Amino acid sequence: RIDIHRLVKRFKGAAAVDGIDLEIRDREFLAIVGPSGCGKSTTLRLISGLEAPTSGAILFDGVDVTDLPADRRDVAMVFQSYALYPHMSVRDNLAFPLENMRLPAAEIASRVDRAAQMLAITPLLERRPRELSGGQRQRVALGRAMVRDAAVFLFDEPLSNLDARLRVTMRSELKRLHNEIRQTFVYVTHDQVEAMTMADRIAVMSDGRVQQLGTPEDIYYRPANRFVAEFMGTPA
Ligand code: ATP
Ligand code: MG
Repeated sequence: RIDIHRLVKRFKGAAAVDGIDLEIRDREFLAIVGPSGCGKSTTLRLISGLEAPTSGAILFDGVDVTDLPADRRDVAMVFQSYALYPHMSVRDNLAFPLENMRLPAAEIASRVDRAAQMLAITPLLERRPRELSGGQRQRVALGRAMVRDAAVFLFDEPLSNLDARLRVTMRSELKRLHNEIRQTFVYVTHDQVEAMTMADRIAVMSDGRVQQLGTPEDIYYRPANRFVAEFMGTPA
């Protein structure tokens, strides 16, 4: 589990994250929602270690990781813009992070095959990224995080570049993936419907703070304040 204590991140005086307390449970699907600029991506980057907090602490299973760099945390991050290596095949794109970790070749091959199978991209393994559709590229980007076999997966609006139909398909694929691998997913989105349909719990943010943390039902039917009610579209 992840414990976040009084987390603050300031950029030149302005607080992007303004005192967040959050407990993320093992193996849950937690969605973080909120309007543009409320600090969702910054929160995710602080959890992953890509950004260092101004103050506060982050604990993984009770161990303080606040000062650990990203590559020493057991996390994999999937970004909104899925930067794949254009000159490499899909297979090499998937294998690359593992080669950097110096895993044995047989282990790399079996992890790549397993991820490809789960994401239904096995037929695409020898292609280059530019020969893929947006949704296929998105799945390769997911695969590149999955082969890492991390305990915690962090997603930053991973479906925002997709058309509406593909987004719906990918939602259920991601949900299925979570059910299958049962690791902790922290999923940032500004799409309330996405959060309501996919998450075990939702954290609603505004202005660098968590306004409410609860199940989709809690958040929708028992909003803690007016902001949450309006953002989630709870009927008055
Ligand atoms: P969006 O939904 O648009 O992606 P967000 O909730 O992810 O928004 P953040 O990217 O976390 O928002 O940004 C929170 C605030 O911090 C914003 O006001 C943003 O301008 C500011 N900010 C983020 N990164 C930096 C940075 N590197 N330097 C200065 N300000 C930053
Ligand atoms: Mg963002």
